[in-house]
Amino acid sequence: MGIDIKTLVRPHLLNLQPYASARSEFSGEAQAWLDANENAYGTPGRSIETAFHRYPDPYQIALKQRISEIKNVPIDHIFLGNGSDEAIDLLIKVFCRPGVDNIVSLPPTFGMYEVAASINDVKVRSASLTADYQIDRATVESSIDENTKIIFFCSPNNPTGNLLAADDILYFLENFSGLVVVDEAYVDFTGQTSFLKKLADYPNLVVLQTFSKAWGMAALRLGAAFASPSILEFLNKVKMPYNVSMLTQQTALKVLQNIRQYQSYIAAIKNQRDWLVTQFQSLETVEKIHPSDANFVLIKFINAPELYQFLVDQRVIVRNRSSVRLCEGGLRITVGTERENQLLVDAISQYHPKAEKTLNA
Ligand SMILES: *Cc1c(COP(=O)(O)O)cnc(C)c1O
Repeated sequence: MGIDIKTLVRPHLLNLQPYASARSEFSGEAQAWLDANENAYGTPGRSIETAFHRYPDPYQIALKQRISEIKNVPIDHIFLGNGSDEAIDLLIKVFCRPGVDNIVSLPPTFGMYEVAASINDVKVRSASLTADYQIDRATVESSIDENTKIIFFCSPNNPTGNLLAADDILYFLENFSGLVVVDEAYVDFTGQTSFLKKLADYPNLVVLQTFSKAWGMAALRLGAAFASPSILEFLNKVKMPYNVSMLTQQTALKVLQNIRQYQSYIAAIKNQRDWLVTQFQSLETVEKIHPSDANFVLIKFINAPELYQFLVDQRVIVRNRSSVRLCEGGLRITVGTERENQLLVDAISQYHPKAEKTLNA
């Protein structure tokens, strides 16, 4: 579809002169770096090889090259941020006029879309998922109005764990004249092909991925937005100049060499997910196990708030989602190590709902 991204961008950003940082004006080899007011002597307590005294690459080219190889996406289709949370915020900042425009989100889903929108004074129009956590096209369509700029789809969805039907997402890519964001934070745990494959076909597609989950780098803060250069041009204009630290860029580059171990962690996590599901099937407090394509499982328990507290008392911490609409009675359980998962299952099998106890007393 022939969408002109410029017609979607907030008008005042079209001619914005971005901040020109020292390192964006000159990069490459130099004999003397006297342009950025850094401390040329180094960092106290660190050798010169391990010092932090120079500003990092504002566009993270070396890291993007590696990500480009791994994901098979051209480098000009990659934006890196301080977690994918930064990309979510920037998309709203670039495309939604405060007090005027809105986004559509499909609850129950990831909370950041709504929080980022609210911070930017952008309204959220909710198009509830169906009872089995799928997209209802008519509901989404009726949530869209002439000021809707972005639809956020999360697949596999957090906190429900399931993939959304790809043809429903494609339907909106074809028929909605704003941005379609597909948040694939958990895509590594699915057998499904990613929407990255569709980037060439849809200039209005943004695929979010993160290195916080399968890649085990949550503390480094690194997320990616993959999209057409016509979208990324504006994210790059609006982002903070040095949004990904040197420590993150260098460390991530090293971590991304370890594809084998990444794959074996994923295999282990899926294995443990299946083991947990088998264990839960025989627990009396379990009402429903929602099918998961992620590294967590949403489980409906007979007495979720009480069970949650019971687990906290034993220092086993899960996420209580029982007050979220369509997740009533639900606890979201991240797949842990074998030892952690065993601890959890042992703890839950010790638990007997209070109501039942009084009956038996
Ligand atoms: C964890 C998560 C993210 C990623 O967050 P980072 O900021 O990259 O750590 C994004 N979307 C969803 C749905 C998530 O669950």
